[in-house]
Amino acid sequence: MDPEKCEGHARCYGLVPELFDVDDYGLSTVVGDGTVPVALEVKARLAIANCPEYAIEEIAD
Ligand code: SF4
Repeated sequence: MDPEKCEGHARCYGLVPELFDVDDYGLSTVVGDGTVPVALEVKARLAIANCPEYAIEEIAD
C-alpha cells in the first residue's frame, strides 16, 4: 500500500485486521512484509476494492 495516498479511513483494518494495522489517526500500515496468505487473498481483494483512496494495490509475484 501507498502511505502517501492513505487518508486514514481504517476501512482496510476493519475488513482485514490480519493484514493491516492502524495508528491513532486511522492511518494504515501493512502487517509484516505484506505477503498475503492464500487463505486471505479474497479478503485482501475486498480491502483493495474498499479503499476510497486507491492506496492499496496488489503486487504480483
Ligand atoms: S482503507 Fe485505504 S485510505 Fe483507509 S486506512 Fe486503509 S489504506 Fe488508508
